[in-house]
Amino acid sequence: MKKRMIFLGPPGSGKGTQASKVAETLEIPHIDTGSMLREEIAAGTEEGKIAEQYINQGQLAPASLVIRIIKNRLSRPDTKNGFILDGFPRSLEQAEGLDKILAEINEKIDFVFNIDLAESVLVDRMAFRRSCKDCGSKYNLKFNPPEQENVCDKCENPLTQRADDNVETATKRIGTYKKETEPLINYYTDKGLIININGEREIVEIFTEIMEKLELKTSSF
Ligand code: AMP
Repeated sequence: MKKRMIFLGPPGSGKGTQASKVAETLEIPHIDTGSMLREEIAAGTEEGKIAEQYINQGQLAPASLVIRIIKNRLSRPDTKNGFILDGFPRSLEQAEGLDKILAEINEKIDFVFNIDLAESVLVDRMAFRRSCKDCGSKYNLKFNPPEQENVCDKCENPLTQRADDNVETATKRIGTYKKETEPLINYYTDKGLIININGEREIVEIFTEIMEKLELKTSSF
């Protein structure tokens, strides 16, 4: 059975970490609009230049831009067995845009995982987040530090911080989430697709629960 999923959750909830592990396990693409936009910025494209202004302010990039990116990405053949959308949709306008794209290609969403977390821990999670540019390993200086300060355990390169992971922008991003993205929990609850996951646990525990819930839902079809 195809597994077409959305991972919802506030910034800093760990949804990207989970989405990447689940995608790797199921051998389906992990489609992460935040990373795609950061790649556009790094490549200096026109779309990247537009997105950067919003990202640095902790606001959403224009819906038309992300919908176009997603439409192109979903048309690629590697999505034939399913996909995970991480960080998209992020507003009702985007969710409706996604419904339209999926209807055009005769697809649908099967599950929406909502990673739930107390707001008080989110800013810390983001402000202490670091990653390795070379191998992509992720760390948190407070909750999951590398062995040597600011150095990747795997490739020994210095760790980097995302431009929007400072306290000020992280706080704005939480505000944007509450205003624009949180209403999607009701949108997908009404469609009977939401699976709530407690995100305040160890990475492996959360992953195990997601995989169990997927199995349970898939076997009941
Ligand atoms: P993320 O890596 O998911 O935390 O996203 C980083 C930033 O990229 C967000 O704060 C937004 O500014 C932008 N972004 C990512 N995904 C979207 C989206 N679906 N719609 C609009 N902006 C987005």
